[in-house]
Amino acid sequence: MSWQIDRRALLSTLGLVPLMGLTPVRTQAQVVIVGGGFGGATAARQLKRLMPEAEIILVKPNRTYTACPFSNLVVTGSRDITAQTFSYDALDKEGIMLVHERAVDVNPNAQTVMLSDGVAIPYDRLILSPGVDMRWGALEGYDQAAAERLPHAWKAGSQTALLRDQLSALEDGELVVMTVPPPPYRCPPGPYERASLIAHYLKTQKPRSKLLILDGKDSFSKMPLFQEAWAEHYPDHLEWRSASNDGRVSRVDAPAMTVSTDFESIQAAVINVIPPQKAGAIADAAGVSDATGWCPIDPLTFESRLQPNIHVIGDATIAAPMPKSAFSANLQGKLCAMAIVQMLADQKPEPTVLANTCYSYTTPEEAVSIVGMYSNRDDQFSNVEGAGGLSPLAAPVSVRHAEAQQAESWFKAITAEAFG
Ligand code: FAD
Repeated sequence: MSWQIDRRALLSTLGLVPLMGLTPVRTQAQVVIVGGGFGGATAARQLKRLMPEAEIILVKPNRTYTACPFSNLVVTGSRDITAQTFSYDALDKEGIMLVHERAVDVNPNAQTVMLSDGVAIPYDRLILSPGVDMRWGALEGYDQAAAERLPHAWKAGSQTALLRDQLSALEDGELVVMTVPPPPYRCPPGPYERASLIAHYLKTQKPRSKLLILDGKDSFSKMPLFQEAWAEHYPDHLEWRSASNDGRVSRVDAPAMTVSTDFESIQAAVINVIPPQKAGAIADAAGVSDATGWCPIDPLTFESRLQPNIHVIGDATIAAPMPKSAFSANLQGKLCAMAIVQMLADQKPEPTVLANTCYSYTTPEEAVSIVGMYSNRDDQFSNVEGAGGLSPLAAPVSVRHAEAQQAESWFKAITAEAFG
């Protein structure tokens, strides 16, 4: 697929694909979903629509959800965090049972989910969509206490506000450092969008300051587009150091406010550490994560390869080349819901084509994007040959503005599907 194809048409088509041909199924099965983010909330709603008589139970600790997409605009002060916050009222009205607790354990033999208040909920099918957890300690010096000084802001909420406040308090001329891990991690282009917006903030608010990105890899998502934007907009405010150019970070020291690479120790006033990640902890408790820290799944049904009757969707999965994105989690939530309905009706899910579109802001008014198309045929996820693409290089600014508007439409549409 070329970039010129009308993306809005593509996105709306994709929104419908998973539900085509399915009529509501009569079953009183009980499906429990752990995690009320883009994957879990979408799956819960699709299940309730497809199986109105089934008991659909959504377990999540908070009464609202704070979204990561667009949170980089919050970090740099051009968006309010309230625009990121969504309630579950619509799900409640649709008859989904909302349980405001943390799931602390899963017993796959008894088919029960244990909650933090001691209650055990039985399930016929369980969906886990817990997102990511940080691998505390995988980067020397970086633990939960250090994150209060060196925020990751890779889960939206208080961490986002902390990084925003630190940038706001930065003295003109002081250095900002961002560290980026090797893959896999949540939102591959996310660090570079954040870097662009921080550089824009420095250029306009603290022009003697600079952002240094220390990267654990040598190439990254949408790299030519980001590098073009950085050369045009931020030649004096952003420096990217690749892994092979001493960008790999070996340790951080929160009290000293330093970051160490193989050859250098760098002190900075603000240090944004994006640490190595893994599937949310409930995946370990359920026995669905492997030695990589992520969850192997059947690509047709999203059922765990390690535990029957437990499905995993979203960031927690091993679904490469699909990226860990809200777009992917939403689509996987729909496909997983449909697969569960089919399995309960003794039908076999068929292979299909999946997609992802990811927009990234390069300034608060300009954006670029990447589209990927994936197959789940032959027991694996793979790229669809010749499909997908990037925004064009050297495009007129009107194209970048139009993509920023499409990004806003995408955010409205995906949050409406999950929560609206
Ligand atoms: P989440 O949305 O994180 O939801 C998981 C939920 O599960 C959380 O609410 C959590 O509280 C809950 N949970 C965890 N454990 C438990 C438990 N034990 N019991 C109960 N509940 C639990 N994606 C895009 O597509 N486009 C973008 O532009 C984009 N921008 C991003 C920018 C940034 C800065 C970041 C960090 C991410 C961005 N993403 C983007 C990625 C996107 O946010 C994630 O891929 C997406 O949220 C994954 O959905 P999920 O359902 O797997 O996890």
